[in-house]
Amino acid sequence: MADTIFQKILDGKVPCHKIYEDENVLAFMDVNPISLGHTLVIPKEPAKMLGELSDDSAAALGRVLPRLARAVVAATGASSYNVLQNNGAHAHQAVFHVHFHIIPKYEDNSGLGIEWNISEPPPEELAGIAKKIASKL
Ligand code: 5GP
Repeated sequence: MADTIFQKILDGKVPCHKIYEDENVLAFMDVNPISLGHTLVIPKEPAKMLGELSDDSAAALGRVLPRLARAVVAATGASSYNVLQNNGAHAHQAVFHVHFHIIPKYEDNSGLGIEWNISEPPPEELAGIAKKIASKL
């Protein structure tokens, strides 16, 4: 995998405002935050997308994400927050090293804006795609 900016941060070649580190995970401030307290949480494993992560790395991230989210809320006083995880350029991923964003959402509406275009597929369509996804597990 090509050296991403997050790999350079992990290797100590680029500085960051570190919040947390353990054997498998690093959390630090986003350099261009959407809102105050915008935090990035990355695995040390160099995977591009979520589906490429090892179970151990995924478990390590899952173990620490809620604790980090609580800390972000406690430190900022944000009323709400979003956890965002982009995969692929088409899905707004710019850095190709897995990362979770914890983005505080404030009363003034600063934070992540979401366009949520719902559809209402017939039940057969939902059943069909559920079966297909389940068959790929
Ligand atoms: P993505 O769009 O890939 O989900 O988000 C990548 C994030 O990485 C962006 O929010 C961007 O601000 C952040 N970022 C890019 N380069 C750097 C950097 O050098 N340092 C830090 N701390 N964050 C970065």
